[in-house]
Amino acid sequence: MISLKILVPATGGLQRFRQIAFRLTFLILVCFGDVSAKVDVQSRVAISITKPGEIKVEAELLRPINSWSFRNAYAGVLGIAERVEDFRANDAVITKAAPGEFRSDRDANKISYKVRLSQPTPADVSHVSWVVGDRGFLMFADLLPLEVTNLSAEFVMPTGWMIESSIPRDANGQYEVTEPERAVFFVGRSLTKTSSTVAGMSLEIVLSGTWPFKEPDALKPATRMMQQYLALTGFRLPGKSTIMIAPLPVVVGSIKWRAETRGSTVVLLIDPNASFRNWRGQLGVIFTHELLHLWVPNSLKVDGDYDWFFEGFTLYTALRTALELRIINFKEFLDTLARVYDSYLSYADDLSLIEVSERRWTTPGSLVYDKGMLVAFLYDLMIRKESGGKTKLADRYRDLFSRHVTDKADGNEVIIAVLGSTPAVRDFTKSYVENSTKVELERILPAYGLSLDSTGKSSQLRVRPKLNEDQKLVLRSLGLHN
Ligand SMILES: [Zn+2]
Repeated sequence: MISLKILVPATGGLQRFRQIAFRLTFLILVCFGDVSAKVDVQSRVAISITKPGEIKVEAELLRPINSWSFRNAYAGVLGIAERVEDFRANDAVITKAAPGEFRSDRDANKISYKVRLSQPTPADVSHVSWVVGDRGFLMFADLLPLEVTNLSAEFVMPTGWMIESSIPRDANGQYEVTEPERAVFFVGRSLTKTSSTVAGMSLEIVLSGTWPFKEPDALKPATRMMQQYLALTGFRLPGKSTIMIAPLPVVVGSIKWRAETRGSTVVLLIDPNASFRNWRGQLGVIFTHELLHLWVPNSLKVDGDYDWFFEGFTLYTALRTALELRIINFKEFLDTLARVYDSYLSYADDLSLIEVSERRWTTPGSLVYDKGMLVAFLYDLMIRKESGGKTKLADRYRDLFSRHVTDKADGNEVIIAVLGSTPAVRDFTKSYVENSTKVELERILPAYGLSLDSTGKSSQLRVRPKLNEDQKLVLRSLGLHN
């Protein structure tokens, strides 16, 4: 592993733009997709911050169009496009057909608009662009019209500001962006960058703000997780992965952090005053989940609502990883599953995992996480028992990444096929994934030598006192030591 630490000077290579006071400009070459003809139209766009928390966009399109759409809903957050204001197209008359839907009375090759970025909420702060104070995140998914399919971006920063991204910057200071919906740029004063190569994969951690931990406290667990998930999947991430850590710009409830892994970027927002006993351990736990998303679903070329797998199974696999890396012990492993089961029981579950996934953002609560995680646990137990402790859920991730799937294959079909086709597995996936069978741990677990005690305020998952040989094999393979 090569590890180097780079402290980027405040003005970096952007000194030539120092005269521009509090003004952020990007020049962007944009391709607008012509849906009917499937021909990309190259365009040029400039975006600037004219005042704190607001961006102005100016675009010059090489082929005129008369309709533009901005993302209005994402991750259960509605009304994102309401932040787009003052939309103009040449000297045409503009009609706002709906939030984020703009039409002009004639084709236009020049557009401009402003986007208000100063007021993120606890619900949307990790999912949308914001600029608050002297830092922020610019996510092209909500800053550019959806018609944009690829672009070349150049940023001009306010005095003393820097910019970091997992997308490489070329010699001209431009960024070639082929998937704008995945592009994230971290902007602000004094960004500190730590770079490393983990088994041939490029990893960068960018920090803003003052923290009670040091950079190695973030880099070490991130490095271990990258190694772990490379081994899990057998898939080497091709590009640079960047973990961007910034203070939460809004007051949140009891959970003092928010995260989203988009493309090859992990955005992690934490309250610097959170009373974590062990910051490195806390970062490790967050990374077990978020860094797995760099692979699942972000490196999978499948489509559809299979959130039960890429969230629920990710939760379980992250918990297994935390156990294997000794971030937690076996009791904490069981305690977590018991807590999730209590949470699961608070929902009236009459949906299949596929249905839960389809409704993830339109139903309150965390059913897709809870049920998905518990079903992953049951699946893991089942195949460990079938194989005498030799095969486990983790083994399926290699199958998933080595399987040849056609581009845009149905995620649910692919995952169900990967989980296996023995009669017992088919019954299992039919019951929980395709049909609406409820999870009943108290009924299923005794066969595996575990019991659920629901007499107290919260349920307890315990190893039964007398285990037969099969149960010992399964539980030892799961991490029980005795
Ligand atoms: Zn997740």
